[in-house]
Amino acid sequence: MGSSLRHERVGGVQIQNAGTIAGNICNASPAADGIPPLLSLNADIVLASTRGEHAMPLAKFIMGNRKTRCASDEIVTGFRIPKPVHPATSTFLKLGARKYLVISIVMVAAVIENDNGNIGAGRIAVGSCSAAAKCLHMLERSLAGQPIAAGIGDLVTKDHLNQLSPIDDVRGSADYRRDVALTLVRRALEDLVADA
Ligand SMILES: Cc1cc2nc3c(=O)[nH]c(=O)nc-3n(C[C@H](O)[C@H](O)[C@H](O)COP(=O)(O)OP(=O)(O)OC[C@H]3O[C@@H](n4cnc5c(N)ncnc54)[C@H](O)[C@@H]3O)c2cc1C
Repeated sequence: MGSSLRHERVGGVQIQNAGTIAGNICNASPAADGIPPLLSLNADIVLASTRGEHAMPLAKFIMGNRKTRCASDEIVTGFRIPKPVHPATSTFLKLGARKYLVISIVMVAAVIENDNGNIGAGRIAVGSCSAAAKCLHMLERSLAGQPIAAGIGDLVTKDHLNQLSPIDDVRGSADYRRDVALTLVRRALEDLVADA
């Protein structure tokens, strides 16, 4: 799978070296940079305790702002990422007030699978625009079967972002976040078709 995930945009040197993906997910911040990429990869999270091990979709595990389904006696021991059916490319775009060491204003993670020149499957997740990052399922359905070609971003409309519920805060207004999310989703798709 091709990837342009820019790890240097997440945290600073200390977080990049000492922070863990499990900690980032269990912290369940709406702005956790680790969540959209794993959602776009259709990841399951693996939980273990003395009662045994089980897995569930990451989208189910994150219940909201700082809320997860991790029981008090459980730890996260891993993630399971299904192999894509077709060759896939992925990207992660993050807007912050600086290039790194910054809380995201909006972030987008996207994956497309290339089925002989058409999109076999597309998964698009947006973070920092709702209590928990969300996949844009309506958009994902419209992308399936579309030719992998420049201009794909034009398919994305404001309605595709209806699932998001951004808030106004010190980093940006809800309207600004909606606008940025639309731009980043379009840009992510254009980047992916250029790479595919
Ligand atoms: C200076 C700074 C910059 C930052 N920048 C960013 C950023 O750019 N992007 C971003 O997304 N985040 C950022 N963060 C937040 C940071 O990434 C997360 O807090 C970090 O990923 C947590 O990782 P950790 O392994 O240190 O978890 P911890 O802080 O140790 O744990 C976080 C929570 O998860 C629980 N936990 C940890 N591991 C497990 C496990 N295996 N199973 C169950 N529960 C577990 C802990 O009990 C705790 O409740 C930043 C934080 C700081 C201090």
